[in-house]
Amino acid sequence: MKSPVIDAGRLTLLLTELRLPATKAMWPQIAEQADKEGWPAARFLAALTEHELAERDRRRIERHLAEARLLPGKTLETFEFEALPMISKAQVMAVTAGDGWLDQGANLLMFGPPGGGKSHLASAIGLALIENGWRVLFTRTTDLVQKLQVARRELGLEAAINRLDRYHLLILDDLAYVAKDQAETSVLFELIGARYERRSMLITANQPFGEWGKIFPDPAMTLAAVDRLVHHATIFELNVESYRRRAAVEQKRKRGRPASYATPVNTAAADAPRQSN
Ligand code: ADP
Ligand code: MG
Repeated sequence: MKSPVIDAGRLTLLLTELRLPATKAMWPQIAEQADKEGWPAARFLAALTEHELAERDRRRIERHLAEARLLPGKTLETFEFEALPMISKAQVMAVTAGDGWLDQGANLLMFGPPGGGKSHLASAIGLALIENGWRVLFTRTTDLVQKLQVARRELGLEAAINRLDRYHLLILDDLAYVAKDQAETSVLFELIGARYERRSMLITANQPFGEWGKIFPDPAMTLAAVDRLVHHATIFELNVESYRRRAAVEQKRKRGRPASYATPVNTAAADAPRQSN
């Protein structure tokens, strides 16, 4: 270099060209500190590089959060594990690391009656996985099945299923509410077959597998799909009374209403048809 004078304008242009936004934003401040404190050149470069990388990670996670369509506000912090005596927080935290199951295409299956916390826990696990660097898509099973059926009509089912490969985890919420006709279930079973041992799924359902024969029309296909799903799977049974119902009862009790009001009968309407216990 001919002159020690730095052309800041040109440097800004170069950093834009190289797509280094954090470096572009931070170099004047860090350079000033480096000059003042007499940093070696390598330390200055390392500091900028660290900032650029951290910023890149942050933006990537932001993008992954936006694409995941998680349920707003459902986090592990707001999930009461005490309400689920059969599932430990430690077990769930191990799942959120992702290693050892997402890289092998293993599955997570959650069964339990309505209101037991399946959707909340599934979405919260999705959020934690994204924060740990994985890509996730949360979808109601019916919505995804509709989309895949449209894709098939347009002869693009395989491509649509392949596009879902970019998600390490596909969360299918409420499998049981998929309608029962053959066309709908066959796209679902194709998806399950395509992801088998490659890409993971987290499926929530009100009915355990034993009931699936009644949900789906083709017993042989159902058996094959169930077989693939459980082959490498962790199963969480959320057999608890509806959290909504318990919360409502608890609130009434706190407000000091007469005991007769604080029976589940008054709040049961908020929940879906099945009663637990
Ligand atoms: P499901 O999907 O099993 O029907 P949800 O996850 O929709 O149940 O839970 C119903 C409501 O109760 C949601 O608002 C959810 O956030 C809340 N909820 C359920 N279980 C818990 C829990 N253990 N801790 C905190 N909130 C819970
Ligand atoms: Mg649900």
